[in-house]
This record gives sequence, C-alpha cells and structure tokens, in this order.
Amino acid sequence: MRHNHIYRAVLPGSFNPIHYGHIDIAHRALRLFDEVIVAVYVHPGKPDLFSGEERVALVRESLKDEPRIRVASYNKLTVDYAREVGAQAIVRGLRVFSDFELEFRMALANRRLAPDIEIVTFIAAEEHLHISSSTIREIASLGGRCLFDDAAACRRGAAAALRRA
Ligand code: ADP
Repeated sequence: MRHNHIYRAVLPGSFNPIHYGHIDIAHRALRLFDEVIVAVYVHPGKPDLFSGEERVALVRESLKDEPRIRVASYNKLTVDYAREVGAQAIVRGLRVFSDFELEFRMALANRRLAPDIEIVTFIAAEEHLHISSSTIREIASLGGRCLFDDAAACRRGAAAALRRA
C-alpha cells in the first residue's frame, strides 16, 4: 500500500552520450516509481568525450517533457547518492548477457554497502539492444553518422562525437 509515500529511483550512468536505450529505461522506470532521478556520474579527473555539463545538458534536453524525471550529476558512491536524494532503489538496464556479470557484481556490492536500497534491473527493449554509448563513440570515430535520427539531443550528441573524433 502506498500511504502518500514517494517512490523514487536513481538511474545512474555515464551517459556519454545519452541514447535511446537510456531514454527507454528512464520512461519505463516511471511505471514503477513516482520519480526517477537520472544521475550522471562525473569523474572529476577523467577526461571524457563529453564534459559532465555537456552530458547533463543532453540528458536534460532528451527527457525535458517528463516532469517526473529529474536530472543531476554526482561523483560519489551511487548508494550514498541514492540515500542522499531519498531514493529506495537504483535502476539499471540489461542489454546482453555479457552485461549481466558486471551488473550482478555491482548489485551484490551495493547490497552489502546499502541493504536498504533495492537494485531493479530492466531488460532492454529489443530495438535498443545494440545501442551503447561506446558504440556511438566508436562509429563516430570512424566517420559514421546517423545512428539516431529523431531525438534532437541524441542526434546532437552523436554529431558532436563525430566532430570530436
Ligand atoms: P553505456 O553502457 O551505454 O555507456 P551507461 O553507463 O551510461 O551506459 O548506462 C546507464 C544505464 O543504462 C546502465 O544500467 C546500462 O546498462 C543502461 N543501458 C545502456 N544502454 C542501454 C540500452 N541500449 N538499453 C537498455 N539499457 C541500457
């Protein structure tokens, strides 16, 4: 029973750049949670193709039509961040079987660190199974275009990756 309680989840990741697989998981998480915080992990010293601010801006733009989604950056343990924002769960997406091992290990470690926070994993939609930020960056680095043609922010992200490659 819900008793006016807010159910909140954190969807953490590097979003370098955001793509349709991420967008799909964020929207699907809203079927279970009242609020989803898309949390962009920004490692202070690590140079990335996109800066933390750029990644956050692309995520914000991609998800701007959904008032129950918030976007923020963080650079601490994900479970600590989840507690800080009052989330009961961490949401992850699973694409291929090879994602499983890492996700499983991270989930076990997170459960040790924070038994009060549940890890909820969504199986990727079939049409997004092949998409990952690293694939986008790799295709861009080899001069490919057009993985994405309808979400403006995803398109801009892929185009910027191409320019910087
Ligand atoms: P990537 O692996 O693309 O660099 P991130 O670290 O930004 O992704 O991932 C954030 C979350 O989104 C992770 O839980 C990841 O498994 C999930 N995710 C990434 N790509 C997809 C996809 N195509 N479909 C579903 N979930 C995905």
